[in-house]
Amino acid sequence: MSPIPADVVIAIDGPSGSGKSSTSRGVASRLGLRYLDTGAMFRAMTWWMLEHGVDVHDQAAVAEHAGKGDIVSGNDPLAPTIVVDGTDVAEAIRSEAVTGSVSPVSVVPAVRTRLLELQRAVIGAGGIVVEGRDIGSVVAPDAQVKVYLTADPAARAARRAAEEGGSDVAATEQSLLARDRIDSSRATAPLLMADGAHHIDTTAYTLEEVIDQVVALAEAVEAVQ
Ligand code: C5P
Repeated sequence: MSPIPADVVIAIDGPSGSGKSSTSRGVASRLGLRYLDTGAMFRAMTWWMLEHGVDVHDQAAVAEHAGKGDIVSGNDPLAPTIVVDGTDVAEAIRSEAVTGSVSPVSVVPAVRTRLLELQRAVIGAGGIVVEGRDIGSVVAPDAQVKVYLTADPAARAARRAAEEGGSDVAATEQSLLARDRIDSSRATAPLLMADGAHHIDTTAYTLEEVIDQVVALAEAVEAVQ
């Protein structure tokens, strides 16, 4: 079998806890591709706002500071990194404070414009799996493979709570659903299934089975070229 195209872009979108990160990293490492977690960039921007005392619910204030903070993401799927102004924030961006503030920051168009530019610079000539909410629709509408992952809210909350070291599942479910509501209803680049995306409901599948399905889609791209 010939390899998949070197410039392939695999866009993986979906709500929180649908399995995007594990799937994206698994697909990238299996296919020898780079990996970009755009959610980590929005979290990094949010971390910067909180660190600098910006009121995340004041859209004008967030917009005013959207150009600040030097955000650099490392793209090895086995060891992704995220650094802001030289500080490793990989752990800090998963804090409750950042999780609770990231959706209002992500609503602000100036934030999305700034990060869109950074995301496209990282995607460059391709060879990458990119996960987020608007990758197939806005960031990389020409991606050769587009996947939209979902899962039942209870399954999503159970996975996320386990990742977070056993936090309260009911509270995690409420937090996920609250973020979904904001992410799906915002005016700029809302969470939606992009044209041409393949919908995979991961509820009943193991991680390996979902990775297999996405790898098969990538291999099919090669087959039609
Ligand atoms: O994927 P993760 O849950 O880490 O994303 C955190 C938040 O970042 C999402 O809830 C959403 O508000 C925002 N986000 C976004 N667009 C993306 C990726 C993430 O608005 N492409």
